[in-house]
Amino acid sequence: MKIIANKKIAIAGGGPGGLSLARLLQVKGADVKVYERDVSRDVRVQGATLDLHEESGLKALQEAGLMDAFRKNYRPGADKIRIVDKHANILLDDHEDVAYEISRPEIDRGPLRKILLESLQPGTVVWNSHLVGLQKKDDGWQLEFQNGTTAIADIVIAADGANSKIRPYITPIKPFYSGVTIVEGAVYNSSTAVPELHQLLNGGKIFAMGDEKTLIVSSKGDGSLVFYTGCKTDESWSCNNGIDFNNAQEVLAWFQQEFAGWNSVWSQLFEKASLPFIPRPQYCMPLDQYWNALPDMTMLGDAAHLMPPYAGEGVNMAMLDALELSTCLISDDFNTVHDAIAFYEKEMRARASAIAGMTMEQTASLHSPDAIKNMLAMFNP
Ligand SMILES: Cc1cc2nc3c(=O)[nH]c(=O)nc-3n(C[C@H](O)[C@H](O)[C@H](O)COP(=O)(O)OP(=O)(O)OC[C@H]3O[C@@H](n4cnc5c(N)ncnc54)[C@H](O)[C@@H]3O)c2cc1C
Repeated sequence: MKIIANKKIAIAGGGPGGLSLARLLQVKGADVKVYERDVSRDVRVQGATLDLHEESGLKALQEAGLMDAFRKNYRPGADKIRIVDKHANILLDDHEDVAYEISRPEIDRGPLRKILLESLQPGTVVWNSHLVGLQKKDDGWQLEFQNGTTAIADIVIAADGANSKIRPYITPIKPFYSGVTIVEGAVYNSSTAVPELHQLLNGGKIFAMGDEKTLIVSSKGDGSLVFYTGCKTDESWSCNNGIDFNNAQEVLAWFQQEFAGWNSVWSQLFEKASLPFIPRPQYCMPLDQYWNALPDMTMLGDAAHLMPPYAGEGVNMAMLDALELSTCLISDDFNTVHDAIAFYEKEMRARASAIAGMTMEQTASLHSPDAIKNMLAMFNP
């Protein structure tokens, strides 16, 4: 740990990437703080379920010594998929597969965050720390927060997601629009609010496709479900469509027009969803992005390589970045933090580029006229 001995490490953002990194560094004795904009750990309901992959998300949890906690909190069966057409006809059903084995266990985002938070020393996460700026200060950095407070660090790591405030200090490269915009919603108590869909979901996930659009629904452990539509739109659609996403009637009217010809069962999601709906234009970082490593600042997860969710890799990549970056920083193979960051970033960019390429292909495939055929071929090669 020679290169980070006596160094203060500030991680901006307490998502899965930032918290994994904090844990992985802290167990090796590093001096680390996480600055998170949420006012407290319980301030917002954490979104959808996440499937963790053996070679990335699970590998990071394993190295962090958190697999026992994971096993107590993951949701067996939540990874089971039903692929359906727009009429809600089931075309592929994991629930019917007697030889089914869990390969990518699902955990809800809330319990994953809880496991990571509880693994950290008290006071590691500084809540209500919305980073708004950075100043070079002596040999390190001064972090400036919206509430007027500041903090000093020798090394700064951006784990602050899609709209990272730190990324522009590292590179001016911006993400490009993927062509698809999501509208996200959630239905509480799905067994009583939307019983037909609850039954179709059967504790797992539904992938509905047709007319070059998608509707993905996931069950959650608290009895709710989350869903998101995917439609090919202009980049500015979410701002210029005139829809009030706080108004259920307006969003329902949009859905029924946009998904005309789909089974009326899908409308129930929009009739029973809690407000607001969230429109999310999907962006992707360029596959060939490059920058010169800085001596004392780097980034991971969505801040470094935002991509659409259609390959289920975002969280996994963020957690693998955390593992790889922590390994570099605690390694004795590097003489300086700068060398460690340069090595990590080179590997991270190559890894993310391959995954982002695959994700963009998957995004196009799921929103093509052959979406169902393509998806079924993936499951029955
Ligand atoms: C609808 C949807 C579905 C998805 N489904 C999946 C899936 O099934 N599987 C998968 O692997 N990925 C999925 N993803 C992608 C996944 O959510 C992200 O890739 C992942 O959360 C990235 O982790 P992160 O830690 O880098 O960033 P985030 O999870 O975005 O965490 C960033 C953290 O930083 C905090 N923050 C932000 N700005 C600041 C600031 N200025 N100062 C301080 N704190 C700040 C935020 O509050 C947050 O806690 C999905 C994404 C969406 C939108």
